[in-house]
Amino acid sequence: MLKPGGTIGILGGGQLGRMSAMAAARMGYHCHIYSPQADEPAFEVARFGTAAAYDDHEALQRFAESVDLITLEFENIPADTVGFLANLRPMRPGWRLLHISQHRLREKQFFQSLNIATAPFAEVNNLPILLEALKTIGTPAILKSSESGYDGKGQATIKHITEAEEAWNTIGQRHAILEGMVKFEREISAIVARNRHETKCFPIAHNIHRHHILHQSIVPAGIPDHVEKRAQEIALTIADAVELEGILAVEMFVTETGDILVNEMAPRPHNSGHWTLDACVTSQFEQHIRAVCNLPLGDVSILRPARMTNLLGDNINEWETWLKNPSAKWHLYGKHEAKPSRKMGHVTELL
Ligand code: AMP
Repeated sequence: MLKPGGTIGILGGGQLGRMSAMAAARMGYHCHIYSPQADEPAFEVARFGTAAAYDDHEALQRFAESVDLITLEFENIPADTVGFLANLRPMRPGWRLLHISQHRLREKQFFQSLNIATAPFAEVNNLPILLEALKTIGTPAILKSSESGYDGKGQATIKHITEAEEAWNTIGQRHAILEGMVKFEREISAIVARNRHETKCFPIAHNIHRHHILHQSIVPAGIPDHVEKRAQEIALTIADAVELEGILAVEMFVTETGDILVNEMAPRPHNSGHWTLDACVTSQFEQHIRAVCNLPLGDVSILRPARMTNLLGDNINEWETWLKNPSAKWHLYGKHEAKPSRKMGHVTELL
């Protein structure tokens, strides 16, 4: 167990690292942020910071020596970096979970190995294979690059087979998977935390996306009890299968018949869990810190129904309007430039 007073290293300097570091500070820990860009939201709330490249071994060595354990807020950390650091300090989550979740094909095959249903998919290496796969999967379908994709990046929708070549070019002719388009009734997510002794899943959130980016998360999710329970079971199964030490988000589709198909997972706090900061006994960020420090996990009971809305790009200017709503809790990430679609903050309304 890492006791309060210890120092936690966090790879990645974004808002998830910022909110994890704030939770850690409240619990009496120090944080050291490591990120290639200095101008990132987590640096201003952490005691120590290193702005250096992920392949700068000297900087990585100094970083590791200054902390008691290492976690992350961004899963696409190069495998070599993770391997290098894992030799120096406990890395939570570990290499195996990162290896799976950094690659869409490996991830889908992993779900299959656990008998967890997904959208139909096929591996795509080149255009002829894509055309072949479209015959089996059918249209509409989505072509997703296997690596480095998030928030709809590296993806192209194929409505008709004649759009295949354009889609292949759009994703940069990279290794990919072709996925059948799911006609879902709603999208949900489960956030699960695990330490060496226990595993706990937060109540399920109903997620509404706009242009492939999360717009709102609503809790309770408004799904039947058995669907809520099944979604939590799926997340718990995954967490146990990878021997998770930390926190993991699992995104899923619920079909009209109430079946659940898993879309993807992220081994870190997740945008769809931000509501826990204001409407749950324990926030996902506190749970993240508890899990990696191997402290008992906190209570995941919901205190109030809630709706979280992301403030993207110029929507950050809405904060003044939100102030007029006395039960809206707003969180701004301190980013300087409001680029379109950039996650600048979020608001949680207690309903
Ligand atoms: P992803 O990057 O896989 O999380 O995709 C971002 C969003 O695109 C998801 O949250 C869905 O709204 C949509 N999406 C992704 N894959 C599918 C699919 N197979 N069928 C329908 N919608 C999808």
